Amino acid sequence: MKAYGNPRARVGANSGPTGGPAAAITPMPFYKGMELVCRNCGATFIFTAGEQEFYADKGFLNEPTKCPKCRGARRDERRPQRDERRSER
Ligand SMILES: [Zn+2]
Repeated sequence: MKAYGNPRARVGANSGPTGGPAAAITPMPFYKGMELVCRNCGATFIFTAGEQEFYADKGFLNEPTKCPKCRGARRDERRPQRDERRSER
């Protein structure tokens, strides 16, 4: 009877849900990404659901204030190299 033998069919993590209970009809991700404005460069970036989960997991209560680019740049700053901060502007 239940020898369908396809446990993956139930997971349906990314693939489209086929006939779920009140399944989302719109092609929307599970979580909505938040649109944030970088405090450093003023660029708009998306705080993705995955990042939100990551942050929540880390116990961060605040959203990131900097775009991934600036966050990466800040990382680079730890390396004592030439003055790249000046060229940022
Ligand atoms: Zn930025």
